[in-house]
Amino acid sequence: MKKRLKLKQNSASIMLRSFVLLTTVIILISGIITIFAVGNQLLETSQSSTNNIIKSLKKTDIDGDDDWENWRANNSLDTSTSYVLVHNMRKDANTKFYYSPDTEDLLSTKPRKVPLIKHLYYRPHMGFLYYATGHAKGINYKLWVKLNSQFATLERVVIVTAAILLLTLLISPLYIQFVADRLTGSLTKLTKSAEESSADMTQQVSQLPVPESPTEVATLATSFNRLLMHLHKQSEKEKLFISNAAHELRTPIATIQTHAQLIKRRGKEHPEIVAKSIDCINDESHQMGNLVDELLALTRADRMALDFEKYNLSNSLVQVKEKMTPLLKQTIITNIPENITIAAHEGSVEQILINLISNAGKYSDSTSKINLRLKKTTDFVAIEVADQGEGISSEDAQHIFERFYRSSDIRGSIPGTGLGLAIAKQLADLNHAELTFTSNKPHGTIFTLKFKN
Ligand code: ATP
Ligand code: MG
Repeated sequence: MKKRLKLKQNSASIMLRSFVLLTTVIILISGIITIFAVGNQLLETSQSSTNNIIKSLKKTDIDGDDDWENWRANNSLDTSTSYVLVHNMRKDANTKFYYSPDTEDLLSTKPRKVPLIKHLYYRPHMGFLYYATGHAKGINYKLWVKLNSQFATLERVVIVTAAILLLTLLISPLYIQFVADRLTGSLTKLTKSAEESSADMTQQVSQLPVPESPTEVATLATSFNRLLMHLHKQSEKEKLFISNAAHELRTPIATIQTHAQLIKRRGKEHPEIVAKSIDCINDESHQMGNLVDELLALTRADRMALDFEKYNLSNSLVQVKEKMTPLLKQTIITNIPENITIAAHEGSVEQILINLISNAGKYSDSTSKINLRLKKTTDFVAIEVADQGEGISSEDAQHIFERFYRSSDIRGSIPGTGLGLAIAKQLADLNHAELTFTSNKPHGTIFTLKFKN
């Protein structure tokens, strides 16, 4: 198998190759155009000077070296490189053929026509010649003019073009390398520090250095740092979530263990504690069950995408009310206009309302009332759950949607895990709904779930 030449594929090498190719092509093309233009100009000059020589010849009658020298001396044209063959066809001619000096020598080897260029000939050992003919008064003139000086000029143009090309090929790689290093250097540095920080797992949160230029790399580094920060925060959140979950589970497990040991040690001698301990174990295991359900709901909601369907929200709210009534001590008073529909995920909206209503029940007096209201305007549909409880303090207000957050006043006194509102908020987001709360003056809280039209 043929081994393919593997070219370096880094940006600097690609830039270098492309630029060298581009400059070579540009210089070559412009060089060729210049050579053609200069060559053409030189040929045109040669043509006009040979035409002038022919014109001047036509006015003379050369049949010997003396005539030739006289003619040369008496005209201002440059005839130093002219070779003439005069063919006198007149009857009174003394000499039929006259060859000016060195013309016979020149014609001893036949000059070869240069293809495609009119009047241009090449004679070995002599170089390029411009050929022209003329006829006057029964005399034919054949003229060859050596183009040495013109070709020397052309040669200089070719040399200068080649020198420029060579110089560019030598200098441009250095310049391109310099530019490429400036452009990709910061990217290379960035990659290096990304590699270093990924190798060093002990580092808490590593930030990549943001170069001043080029701007694209600076933007990339900034975005990357933002992403790193986001990932770091996310992982911190997850760590906190797991440790909170473990902590919340540890308490009921410890209580269950304590009661189980109590029954084991003292159950036989004091049978009266068995029932009490079993009640405690039952409560705690329920609490644990709820917590596990809520944790599962949260992690599921993290990845969930909901299917929306248009459904009758009024009917759904009536069902929620019926479902919650037996679980609460408070009375639920509803104000639900009929046949209000929304496009949402019915099951998750129900779950949000169950969480809100059960909170209203947990955090208000058993004799108070809970209001469940449905409102529709041209802009939105809103569901309100209002209680007449203690309300939410301004300090708690900032945190109640956080996972595991519970007001310190009720910790220990009212069972709960602090996940209900976090789940409700997440489900509201998934339904593109807004979950907010305000004070229910003079007592209590109103939670509002708003669906924009
Ligand atoms: P659970 O996960 O079992 O629902 P929880 O009710 O404590 O536990 P959330 O529903 O998330 O958790 O509520 C968080 C906290 O917000 C509560 O502990 C409570 O302090 C406060 N809170 C929520 N709803 C109300 C309310 N209607 N009135 C007063 N405080 C409330
Ligand atoms: Mg709750």
